Amino acid sequence: MTKKNLKGLDLTELQLFVEELGEKKYRAAQLYSWLYAKAAQSFDEMTDISKDFRQVLSQISCISNLQLVAQRVSTDGTIKYLFKLNDDLAVESVLIPSPHISSAEEKRLTLCVSTQVGCPLDCKFCATGSMGFTRNLTAGEIADQVLQVQRLNQKRITNLVYMGMGEPMLNYDQVMKSIGIINDDNGLNIGARHITISTAGYADKIRQLADEKRTVKLALSLHSLDNEKRLKLMPITKKFSVAELIDSLDYYYHKTRRRPTFEYILFDGFNDTAADVKLFVTLSRRIPCKVNLIPFHSIAFTHPSGIGASLKPTPAPRIEAFADALRKSDITVMVRASSGQDINAACGQLAVPESMKKMKM
Ligand code: SAH
Repeated sequence: MTKKNLKGLDLTELQLFVEELGEKKYRAAQLYSWLYAKAAQSFDEMTDISKDFRQVLSQISCISNLQLVAQRVSTDGTIKYLFKLNDDLAVESVLIPSPHISSAEEKRLTLCVSTQVGCPLDCKFCATGSMGFTRNLTAGEIADQVLQVQRLNQKRITNLVYMGMGEPMLNYDQVMKSIGIINDDNGLNIGARHITISTAGYADKIRQLADEKRTVKLALSLHSLDNEKRLKLMPITKKFSVAELIDSLDYYYHKTRRRPTFEYILFDGFNDTAADVKLFVTLSRRIPCKVNLIPFHSIAFTHPSGIGASLKPTPAPRIEAFADALRKSDITVMVRASSGQDINAACGQLAVPESMKKMKM
């Protein structure tokens, strides 16, 4: 008999589980708190649960834990973790300390989590895309990245971004389930306003997210407002055009009253011209824009071909000039720091090396 893995079950599922064992309902809340608030790795740690019941639990169920395989620390304090999953596949998570340490409120500690092993979307500038797609992560595996990093690092994780390996909207149900556990006061207790889902552009799922009761923040990896150009960078544009995406964001904004963030990698001479600024200005008249400009991080280590090989980063002074041009039109702009570049942990650089795609340990 395969043992039932309890990590990843929500409270309702745990209640059903304990009821089937003929136990009282409150046991489920106890288990839930041990699993998620206290990050227990084994039943032995659950000291307020009787030894007899722990024995029963360990006979029929288990707590599956991600195994830390490697960690690399950047000179800027960013830490990249490589975790092994139960089936020997691997994913990465990145812990990013806030660059501003001037005040207590600004002491953010952000974890970037993966949602898939690899990614099927094949964005031409992204290292994960070059790995292809293997499988979706379960809610337990997503939440466990937070639990394990919290345990390893001790400091409280304040913010969570679904911007690691994979496309969260292609694993929507497990992503939302993990958010349920992570956001819950009795779980990991990270506020919904401190959780961001980033998508390459699933207009249907953006609408679905807008209709959820739990309103987490949304980021769209836009990279061009010109449909032809975006198509060259991101094949997903064939499925959902720029116009369809903007319609769905309009819906999201009017439904939630939250401004979406537009992520925009600046590629030299490709999407950083005056015409591109103009497209943003037109868009901002329809949806109030918050733009996150991202320097293009090299993915040369993946040996890209085609357009991926020809893309170059916009030099820093021109990134600033692009930012200023947007600000002149009252668009909120941030230029994202390239945390962790020296350890290939910056945006878009996550990829498990070929030798570790399936680890035999
Ligand atoms: N699939 C989701 C989440 C993962 S990508 C999405 O597309 O949003 C996280 C962010 O990193 C996205 O904004 C993505 O466009 C950006 N990114 C990918 N490759 C990059 C690179 N080489 N340099 C800088 N940012 C990159």
